[in-house]
Amino acid sequence: MSPEDADSPPVRADSPLDGAEPLTEDADPPSDDRSDPFYPAIDVHTHVLPERLLAAIRRSLRREAGWEFSLPTAPSAIDDVLRAAGVAAFVALPYAHEPGVARELNGWVLERAASSDRLLPFATVHPDDDVGSVVRDAFDAGARGLKIHCPVQECRPADPRLEPALEAAAERDRPITYHGGTAPMFQDSPYVGADAFAELLDSYPELRVCCAHMGTYEVDRFLAFAREYDGVYLDTTVAMARAAPETIGFDPSSIADETLAALSGSIMYGSDAPNIPYRYREERVELLERDLPRETLRDIFFRTALEYLDLEAEAVVGRD
Ligand SMILES: [Zn+2]
Repeated sequence: MSPEDADSPPVRADSPLDGAEPLTEDADPPSDDRSDPFYPAIDVHTHVLPERLLAAIRRSLRREAGWEFSLPTAPSAIDDVLRAAGVAAFVALPYAHEPGVARELNGWVLERAASSDRLLPFATVHPDDDVGSVVRDAFDAGARGLKIHCPVQECRPADPRLEPALEAAAERDRPITYHGGTAPMFQDSPYVGADAFAELLDSYPELRVCCAHMGTYEVDRFLAFAREYDGVYLDTTVAMARAAPETIGFDPSSIADETLAALSGSIMYGSDAPNIPYRYREERVELLERDLPRETLRDIFFRTALEYLDLEAEAVVGRD
């Protein structure tokens, strides 16, 4: 898997990407505007992946959801889009859809991290891999956390096959991000949902875990988990975007401002870039235009992620 994309030319701020709108439209306001409550941001949910894998994911999203994409897929170009938007660091979440591919994928993400100032690598493991050794090796090599995609990997969050991974994460104090909710097309999956997530919290109450997409479609139950457990986090990915009603059939305004303010220490901004059927800025405008205290926004866009990732602010800002 040679990362030939590393050689792709840097994207100029005024050049269209894959037929996308010019980047300048995405970079509004400028990334160093300190009055902008988005800046600096951490995006805890991106999928920087080998391009052939991204292309396959896009094909299936196009087929199943009819989505069209305009963000670029080359790692350096994704990096440029995020930097232009004011993102100081972003988490890359790989996932292994079959046994035997996790090691190579983890190695690829770690290689990308070595050539990016912004990319924070997470690891993946398939439940039918040699789970403990894949995860420990990835942590040893620099992966900051683990991603588990329950419906795609066909495992519940606390599947006994994942035990060695959960133990390694607890031992090393690393967070785990789950696709653990039923959105957008997993209502009938036996692997997701609040009941399945509750098994994880019962067995591993000390872990730091994030349920992506605000736990949609069982948002109230996942918000209750975040209230009850210090280690439970949610990410805003896709669920709080302006287009969420059309893309996943969820209305972001059904979560009250007061709820976001009260739980801002458990909620983190994420985007799903580059596989989103709208421009990158659409992911944040809805949150920015609500009547939320600045402190709430700074938690959601930055501080809560520092805590989840166990990072100091100095480690992610001021590196340009
Ligand atoms: Zn995702």
